[in-house]
Amino acid sequence: NADVAKNRAKLDGRGSVWFFDQQLHDELLHQHRLVDRLEQALESEELSLHYQPQVSAVSGRIENLEALLRWQPAEGPPISPAEFIPLAERSDLIHRLGDWVMETACHQRALWRDAGLAIERIDINFSGRQMSRSDVFQRFEDCLARYGLGPRHIGIELTENVLIEADDRILEGLRRLHHLGFRIAIDDFGTGYSSLSYLKHFPVTALKIDRNFVRDAPDQPEDRAIMEAAVFIGHRLGLEVVAEGVENLEQLTLIREMRCDLIQGFYFFRPMPAMEMERILGGLVTGHQGISG
Ligand code: C2E
Ligand code: MG
Ligand code: MG
Ligand code: MG
Repeated sequence: NADVAKNRAKLDGRGSVWFFDQQLHDELLHQHRLVDRLEQALESEELSLHYQPQVSAVSGRIENLEALLRWQPAEGPPISPAEFIPLAERSDLIHRLGDWVMETACHQRALWRDAGLAIERIDINFSGRQMSRSDVFQRFEDCLARYGLGPRHIGIELTENVLIEADDRILEGLRRLHHLGFRIAIDDFGTGYSSLSYLKHFPVTALKIDRNFVRDAPDQPEDRAIMEAAVFIGHRLGLEVVAEGVENLEQLTLIREMRCDLIQGFYFFRPMPAMEMERILGGLVTGHQGISG
């Protein structure tokens, strides 16, 4: 195939055209292989969830955990969800991944509940395509019911754009969850749609200020100003405000001054496997091995 393109390019005397084709071809092939491998990964032990704590800005106590998908192929380096989630979203594979994440997080939360570990919720990320599945809410509620879990145990995170693009069915489903007491956080707040008016229509309980603002806040007055405004508006709307990506003391100090409620970032904890999370939570866990994968 590449040879044909090369020959044609030679005949045409347009080397640059072949170069472009070749790059595109390689990229598509790479993506195609990755999706194939990801599909196989679902059947093997290559996927796991890592958990990253959110701590109270006031007490420093661990309040909630965010579940983050990890893919460690049997051979080669780990592959980032930032790379494979968007690929999975182009096909129905995202639904199978989503089911796997939901099932694994619920199972883990139930194990930790039964072991008496002191944590509140595990929050799960939902991407846009996942929400477009007609029975997504039913599956969510069924999964929780299977493990006897409720709003105290599992919450969800959605990006701004998912909310903006949500149709009536999705909004109705979110309103129902909200009414039942589920926590719904807007992820990467400040990076999506620029109008704030959508905030008043949507059934959400928390804002997660995107980590790019947090990263630059110590040096950039503009980022600081945007963060302050986000905290202000969040609180005025009765929402909890979370700062993501806090990596150092300088950022932490600023964020405490701004009165964010919760802090998530490498400064406190990196995302970690379930077993490690258990040790940190300090619970005496007996009778099971966790399901960290
Ligand atoms: P996100 O939901 O915004 O998750 C937070 C990301 O920030 C995670 O990246 C986390 O490891 C990273 N992070 C946390 N603290 C720090 C910090 O102090 N510094 C820096 N530099 N990074 C920090 P990760 O795990 O690579 O996930 C990337 C994205 O992939 C997530 O962004 C989310 O959009 C998506 N994703 C991950 N797991 C899932 C999943 O189960 N389902 C779906 N639909 N998407 C997922
Ligand atoms: Mg998230
Ligand atoms: Mg985020
Ligand atoms: Mg993000």
